[in-house]
Amino acid sequence: MTLMTEGLFQLKAASECSDCQRCWRGSREGGAERDRVDRIVQEVIRRVRGEAIEDARRLVPVGVSVRHVHLSQEALEHLYGPDSRVTKLRDLYQPGAYSAEQTVTLVGPRMRVIERVRVLAPLRDYVQVELARTDGILLGMDLPVRDSGQLEGATLITLVGPRGALTLPVAIRAIRHVHLSPADVQRMGLQGAKKVRIRTTGPKALLFDNVAVKVGEEYIPEMHLDTDDANAADLVCGDQVEIEM
Ligand SMILES: [Zn+2]
Repeated sequence: MTLMTEGLFQLKAASECSDCQRCWRGSREGGAERDRVDRIVQEVIRRVRGEAIEDARRLVPVGVSVRHVHLSQEALEHLYGPDSRVTKLRDLYQPGAYSAEQTVTLVGPRMRVIERVRVLAPLRDYVQVELARTDGILLGMDLPVRDSGQLEGATLITLVGPRGALTLPVAIRAIRHVHLSPADVQRMGLQGAKKVRIRTTGPKALLFDNVAVKVGEEYIPEMHLDTDDANAADLVCGDQVEIEM
């Protein structure tokens, strides 16, 4: 059962990461269909896993978060024009989350730019730009590590859309985190844990410290890393990593 489960996990991928070109999301063809199959496979795993994870290992798949932007409706209209709406490109791994067809161009203080940065939806009531350290170096900005929505000390950045631009103190590096449902927390014996360590394997094996635990009824188990962290450990979406206390 364990072997079968591991095999299934390797078929699936996670968040928005079409840039990596290493996991199957790198290929555009059949993306939507594969996403659908992926969800079914994941559901099967959820049902069989009660036994599969009895061997006490707390395994979760990795989702690599490529640089992206969260917008409010107001910001979207400012960038894309009055009455604009986000339109779905494809579903992400966490239920209800999807990547939008809309993108923005980011401009930093050195007037360097990163083009076509994906907007993730649903929209929020704030604007947030999530980058990796490498992106910050390119743009010329020092990015604080923050939990999503905690924007104290976030860096000033300019977002450019086809109809307007916004300059706001909203750029961060997202804290490493793992999504779990309350049932996962229970099964993994992680009750009360706010932060965990996560161990990876392979020639570039790492122990990631300070991984925040995010618990939600809706969540499917998944560790979210930015591209710098993922690249440092040779991880791609769908790789399995192990939670330590
Ligand atoms: Zn996440």
